[in-house]
Amino acid sequence: MIFDKMETGEFEQIVFCHDKTSGLRAIIAIHDTTLGPALGGCRIWNYNSEEEALIDAMRLAKGMTYKNAAAGLNIGGGKSVIIADPKKDKTEALLRAFGRYVESLNGRYITAADVGSGPEDLDIIYQETDYVVGISESHGSSGDPSPVTAFGVYRAMMRTAKEAFGDDSLEGKTVSVQGCGSVAYTLCKHLHEAGAKLIVTDIDKEAMERVVKDFGAETVEPDKIYEVEADIFAPCALGAILNDETIPKLKVKAICGSANNQLEDIEKHGKMLKDRGIVYAPDFIANAGGVINVADELEGYNRERALAKASTIYDQIGLVFDIAKEENITTAKAADRMAEERIAAMKEIRSNFIRTEHNILSRR
Ligand code: NAD
Repeated sequence: MIFDKMETGEFEQIVFCHDKTSGLRAIIAIHDTTLGPALGGCRIWNYNSEEEALIDAMRLAKGMTYKNAAAGLNIGGGKSVIIADPKKDKTEALLRAFGRYVESLNGRYITAADVGSGPEDLDIIYQETDYVVGISESHGSSGDPSPVTAFGVYRAMMRTAKEAFGDDSLEGKTVSVQGCGSVAYTLCKHLHEAGAKLIVTDIDKEAMERVVKDFGAETVEPDKIYEVEADIFAPCALGAILNDETIPKLKVKAICGSANNQLEDIEKHGKMLKDRGIVYAPDFIANAGGVINVADELEGYNRERALAKASTIYDQIGLVFDIAKEENITTAKAADRMAEERIAAMKEIRSNFIRTEHNILSRR
């Protein structure tokens, strides 16, 4: 049954990790390493069943393949889950036992933070393996990814504006923003500096007030953000907020934000936006600055280089819009197609024979 699932989803490898003493029960799912080592975070979650954990690991790993490929990174897709309560069960032994399994894969999988795990946990994992990114800044890592994510969203929004209005300038445009957290704050800063007008909301009044004070934003109640009259809507808080209920309320020409999985149903709600003539920047490309930032650690972290790479999200989003128009499909589908085509092309070039050390040795 697991092999059937792997065949259907085209997975390369799934590793089940168990350690009796620490109580470790973890699954590492490696989806595709055509472009490079599989990179994806480690989710620590109290799953109700082993099956639920496996499905989540596989779903998230495949998502990373698409995200990394569409961002133009030479990185494959993978993810891991530890079945444990992140509030109670995260012991040093458990995390180090997990680190030893990551090490045993010799770089095929590189772990990072996710729900339930943060830099302090990764620092412990780092004691057992070098194949971990997003550790504490004191160890020379990339630190908080939010500024780079925000810059990537800003660049994606410029290209989205070009698609919707024929010009990538955001000067004089009104942008409604859901959430005033880490990413949204820096995004609002860029938008303010570019001359955009901001209408924001957050359930956290303090976070909202900061954006009002620093960037002169107007505010609305959280449930009113969908019906705000604006040029662009930037969802930067929650997933599944583009759905049957909210899409008919929208009074915007374009959507581009940082939140993950914005479309409740990719097919249905992607099509609803297309039918309404709303230009949608696929979330996993617009918010790729986070993974671009952390992946930069693999070359010895350099923030300037990470920002330069995040800037190219402008072009990646442009490619998606072109594919969507050429093939008359939704932009969400076009994003998947772009990732699939890149992976297929790289697989193809590898069919050329290269004489390597390995070939020579194996003839002896
Ligand atoms: P954050 O927790 O700093 O900010 C989220 C904000 O949303 C908070 O201020 C919260 O109060 C607010 N919020 C929650 N529910 C709300 C509601 N119903 N209405 C309005 N506001 C609400 O998180 P963040 O790091 O800024 O990330 C924002 C989104 O972007 C998340 O979906 C995250 O998964 C995604 N993302 C973040 C990064 C990154 O680098 N931080 C990278 C990729 C994707």
